[in-house]
Amino acid sequence: MSDFITRFYAGEFDHTVLYPKKDSFKDKCPNCGSSQCNNDKYAVAMVNWKQAEARKNERIKQAIFQDLGIENNPVKDIMFERAWSEGHSNGWVEVYRCLADLIGYTNSVIAAYLNSK
Ligand SMILES: [Zn+2]
Repeated sequence: MSDFITRFYAGEFDHTVLYPKKDSFKDKCPNCGSSQCNNDKYAVAMVNWKQAEARKNERIKQAIFQDLGIENNPVKDIMFERAWSEGHSNGWVEVYRCLADLIGYTNSVIAAYLNSK
């Protein structure tokens, strides 16, 4: 198993920001008695969670690039987009596998082309 997959399942990229459940913000604020106050708190909690998710996803993406040895490859983002569109509905490990396959395929196409010269 690849180092990335081991690290991913070990929870290395997880964050500790809990997803804010709307239900837990439905009562009036215990401090000021306002329901708008709780709406604002919910909005802030949701922004915090989305930012934590975005940071996690970026850490995962960079770890995948490093694991596959393409962190300095100028075409890594266009290859990632393809792997993402193929694999993301099945999660990050599938994105990783799609990208690994794509790199292997691209390398074989390049090698075949160079051999034909
Ligand atoms: Zn309040």
